[in-house]
Formats: sequence, structure tokens, C-alpha cells
Amino acid sequence: MTRADDTLDAFVQALPKCEVHLHLEGAVPLDLAREWSSEPVPKDPEWFDPDHRYSSFKDFIHVLNLTWRGHLNTLERIQQAATKIFRQLNAQNVRYVEMSFGVGAYTFPVVETVAALKAGAPDGMTVRIIAGLSRDRDTAYILKIGEEAVWADNVDGVDLHGDERVGDPRNFLGLYQEARSRGMITKAHAGEFGGPTSVIQALDLLRVNRLQHGVGASNDQGLIQRFLDEGVTLDMCPWSNVKLGVIEQLGGHPLPMFHRAGVRVTVSTDDPTLFGQRLTDEYRWLYTEMGLSYGEIGQIAANAFLNAKMDDGERDTCLSEIASVVEAYEG
Ligand SMILES: [Zn+2]
Repeated sequence: MTRADDTLDAFVQALPKCEVHLHLEGAVPLDLAREWSSEPVPKDPEWFDPDHRYSSFKDFIHVLNLTWRGHLNTLERIQQAATKIFRQLNAQNVRYVEMSFGVGAYTFPVVETVAALKAGAPDGMTVRIIAGLSRDRDTAYILKIGEEAVWADNVDGVDLHGDERVGDPRNFLGLYQEARSRGMITKAHAGEFGGPTSVIQALDLLRVNRLQHGVGASNDQGLIQRFLDEGVTLDMCPWSNVKLGVIEQLGGHPLPMFHRAGVRVTVSTDDPTLFGQRLTDEYRWLYTEMGLSYGEIGQIAANAFLNAKMDDGERDTCLSEIASVVEAYEG
């Protein structure tokens, strides 16, 4: 390891960070998945190889099922998984987390599932739990449980999940309106596989200002202007985009372009158990693969805190820590 690598690692570690685009289903720690799965889960899986790419969405779902499906079948296991996920993030100096769970994917009342997840949060970390509404599953069922989620006092927000090429976001308008009227966080996956149309639908129909991914808008100047005019944030996950073939390589990711155009972007991991990265890797790659400066990386870390639903005093502490870290390492 060169000195530059050491310095970069120390800088990334010292930055207070947020993880704001994370799916419980894609984050079950591998050692727990191995313990709970009836099928063999490899200790050193081939999908962690940096050269591995998912050949299709089906291939991705296969690994998701292996590492998650059926494993979180007690509230104790849900809490155990959450505790480990949050502890690993805490060790990377993450102070604020928004984690989604698939509505209708668990057999317990929503309020109990969410209580078990939140019970895993360590001291000093703010955890928000988001109800993920699958657009590509049985809509009537998702809406029924989605309604339960919006009225559960411990759910903090809603997100539209699933294949953007399937289902109609209009089905979820009522739930989004209710969520907004209750002051919840509202965001939606768009512009991952779906291109500009999915982004326009999320903005016009669901009226969100937090897009999960948004890569598909990178060649659309009109949409970039809308992001600026309407204060839209892109919660991006570059390594996820590479592994799923949305982007060929990190060096070609549009995150730096959006950032330099003035769009508020953040960086997160999406499904770390399926992609084999840590949040600190994503931050390092902003520097090594995308050519962003320490100052720019500090701004991206700060962007997530500016949106965070957290205590204002804690937010200010994190923002001033970021400024100090950037100043210390930039010079
Ligand atoms: Zn996602």
C-alpha cells in the first residue's frame, strides 16, 4: 500500500457518513446467511469478485434468494441481522442510515418488523426505516400492507422498489399522498434500468425529490435542469450499477458529472451482500476511479446529512466535522 492509499483510507474513515440507499434484503450479513440458509452459501462467493458481473436480473435474484429469502423468519433473526448491519456501518463512521425493507415480504405485523430492525441501532446512530413498495409484485397485496406501513408510527418513509420496466407508479399515488401528508420521507427508484421516462414518472406522478439511482437521466439536459430547479437529490450506488451492467465501469459513472453540474448527489451501497463492497469502498472509488477531490467528496458526504431526518444539533456536528476533516486532509 502506498502512502497515498493510507492517506485516502484515513480520510474516508474520518468522514462522518450516511448510508441512505440500503435494502435489508441485500444486506443480510454473509455469515448469518450461511448459518440460516438450507442451501450452501459460499464463504468467499464468486459474486464478490471485482470482475464478476450479474449476467441478468434473474441471476441477481438467484443470489438474493440464496442470501435472504426465508432466512428472516423470526423477529429475533430480524433484530440480529439489523444489529450486525448497523454495527458494521458504525465501524465505518456512519452516523445516519435509511434502510428499506420489502413490504409484504415478512410474516409479522409491520410495526413489529420495524421495531425489531430499530432495536438493532447502536448508540450515536440515527436509523430510519423505509417501507419498500414493490411495483412488480401483486399490487393489491402490496397496497394493503403498504397502507399498514404508512400508518405504523415507527415507519419513517416510503420508497418504490422493483423492476422499473414493470408495473405502473400510478398505483401508488394514494399511498405517496398519505405518506407526504404524514411528513414521511418519500423517495423512489428510477433511472436505474428504466431511463428518463421512469425518472419523469417519479417526479411528475409520485412528486418525490429523492431518486434512488437516477443514472438514466445523465444524457438528458432537460432533466438535469429539473433536478437543479426542483432540488432533486440522487442517492447513487455506483458499484451496484457496474455489477448489474447499468454502467460498464466506475470511471464512466455519471456521478461526477451530476455533482459538477450542481445536482445534489449522495453515495451508498444498495445491496452490499450481493455486490461485495463496503460504504468506505464506494467513497474511495470516488477519488481513485472518478477523480473527485477530497473537497468534492466531503461535499457529497455532507449532501446526505443535509437531507437526513435527524436531530439538527447532531446534523450540525456532523457537517462541521466533515469540514474539519476536509481541511485537515486537503492541505
Ligand atoms: Zn436500490
